Amino acid sequence: MNDEERARADIIEISHRVYGKGWVANHDGNLSVRVDDDRVVATPTSVSKGDLRPEQLILVDLSGKKLEGTRRGFSEFALHLAIYRARPDVKAVLHAHPVTATGFAVAGVELDPTFMPEAVVSLGDSIPTAHFALPYGDEGAAPLSAYVQDVDVMLLANHGVIGYGPDLWTAFYRVELVEHLARIQVVARQLGAVNRVSPEHLTVLLEKRRKAGLGPEARAETLRLSQGAAAPAGENPASAGAAGLHLPDGAAPSAWTGTGPLPGVPVEVPGQDDLRRLVEQALERIREG
Ligand SMILES: [Zn+2]
Repeated sequence: MNDEERARADIIEISHRVYGKGWVANHDGNLSVRVDDDRVVATPTSVSKGDLRPEQLILVDLSGKKLEGTRRGFSEFALHLAIYRARPDVKAVLHAHPVTATGFAVAGVELDPTFMPEAVVSLGDSIPTAHFALPYGDEGAAPLSAYVQDVDVMLLANHGVIGYGPDLWTAFYRVELVEHLARIQVVARQLGAVNRVSPEHLTVLLEKRRKAGLGPEARAETLRLSQGAAAPAGENPASAGAAGLHLPDGAAPSAWTGTGPLPGVPVEVPGQDDLRRLVEQALERIREG
């Protein structure tokens, strides 16, 4: 199975799960997987995610133009596009309207993951809500830009949830975890209190998250290693630039579109030593768990 066949199979399987979980009604929700630098396999519009069949999928380029398929593209594609442009590491996006998490986004109540250790490691210390905009075109995608570099899943005010990651399964599990946390927060509130973990514990959990290769800091580290550059001592990459990346002098974050190399950063193919170091670092992260 090549990458595109795998992407198509994942979209069908996960669409059916999304429907089975009751995260969508009617033709709601959309899923996409980036299969190479500028092509994305996606669900079409006007099909229930419970009924989706392989021949209904479409192939779209990153300008939103349909390349293959008989069905029409969905109107919220700009949201997916904004994420792919801002996050070269993202290969899949899932958007749905799971009832409890969407309830938070409608009520304007903050969903705070810091009441459960595992959630902090998986998702970080916040699940932000992007402010409301009609979910079409650049205007609809604009509210995502405030959080897209910092988190891998967010609520959309008066709308739903959007999750993304290195593959569609990861995006799916992230949205699943958000919905699960929303339900727990509702129950805890009904029972009396939502007690968060202490700041000291939170620090430990966020460090664990970084070691697991998750979050903007770990991504910046991976990017630096892949470019063969050592991290300057004591620097906090999360504070550097809007993209949470170490940008070279004179390279304004806005000059980088999110695809291709960072401006001014020489692109180097990793040598044997760099690859060995990457593998060792990955093994170390697994060991440290
Ligand atoms: Zn929607």
